Amino acid sequence: MSKQILILPGDGIGPEIMAEAVKVLELVNSQFALDFELSYDLIGGAAIDQHGVPLADATLACARAADAVLLGAVGGPKWDALDRAIRPEKGLLKIRSELKLFANLRPAILYPQLAEASSLKPEVVSGLDILIVRELTGGIYFGAPRGIRTLENGERQGYNTLPYSESEIRRIARVGFEMARVRARKLCSVDKANVMESSQLWREVVEEVAKDYPDVELSHMYVDNAAMQLVRAPKQFDVMVTDNLFGDILSDEASMLTGSIGMLPSASLDAHNKGMYEPCHGSAPDIAGQGIANPLATILSVSMMLRYSFQRSDAADAIEQAVSRVLDQGLRTGDIFCAGNVRVGTQEMGDAVVAALGTL
Ligand code: NAD
Repeated sequence: MSKQILILPGDGIGPEIMAEAVKVLELVNSQFALDFELSYDLIGGAAIDQHGVPLADATLACARAADAVLLGAVGGPKWDALDRAIRPEKGLLKIRSELKLFANLRPAILYPQLAEASSLKPEVVSGLDILIVRELTGGIYFGAPRGIRTLENGERQGYNTLPYSESEIRRIARVGFEMARVRARKLCSVDKANVMESSQLWREVVEEVAKDYPDVELSHMYVDNAAMQLVRAPKQFDVMVTDNLFGDILSDEASMLTGSIGMLPSASLDAHNKGMYEPCHGSAPDIAGQGIANPLATILSVSMMLRYSFQRSDAADAIEQAVSRVLDQGLRTGDIFCAGNVRVGTQEMGDAVVAALGTL
């Protein structure tokens, strides 16, 4: 039976980068006889314009029925003034939580060809290969109570809550340990246990789970130190596991080590490895419509989809090799461009990956 992939291009550069990722997906579909059927729908601002909500019920139903979802990015200034409850980002949070995609995998791998594009010295980042495992459906982004209230003295106060239950911590810790097991067997759990109770429980539960993984070396680090260590000596890390808020920030920081956020794919998985795959970056309204966005993060998200949801590491490896070959050719979008490279646009970059795939 064919496998259903739901494509949600979204807003801003989303449709531009998705068009390139779909070219690659369609080619590997036929090259590797994957039997994928693609369907398309709206999310974010595009869905607000059409349906008045950032994620229509019918779209959510299609996402539930699909074997995997590939998403571009959502948001943009056009929708910033809307009520918080129906902003584009709400569609993203809703699809992640409704599909129970609690495990967000964000690899930060430095392609050797991009060592010069990193904001750090080549010797600090060369060979970098970190995996950040971020909890995605709990913590402060979802915790209640939340809101903006008026205090007795008439002053407004914004407030949020950061709850984590034992079971939420245990399942994301397990993902961290499992990932470490097939890599360099080192897991660093990042928290703020010196200040926050939710982090104290986080640390306790991670220690409990560690008993099942004696082959993995566990360490703990406070998030402020982790942020510093990521730019001081990032190669000390193998897998990092952390909560929703810390993971959001640390993975963006890690992206700059690799040259550009335009290179970073991500996978968000449920307990059965059903997943949604998307670049780590946003909709980049500042460059939308110009044909200059880097499509490689989205193309590499296709590779993660093949690896994690469909166990097709052969096709995933081929995409990664094709990307590497294109970088060898010196082709660069503006975000990873250095002197001596050949500057290309979104479409040319996608075409180059397709051409490289054809010659593997
Ligand atoms: P952003 O990631 O969209 O952009 C940050 C910077 O990186 C910009 O200068 C942008 O031009 C650049 N950039 C991002 N992706 C790029 C690519 N593929 N190629 C080249 N350059 C790239 O973050 P932002 O500016 O903070 O947010 C813009 C909008 O995106 C907001 O509405 C925000 O809410 C939304 N957003 C969405 C997601 C998502 O859909 N997952 C994630 C983050 C932000």
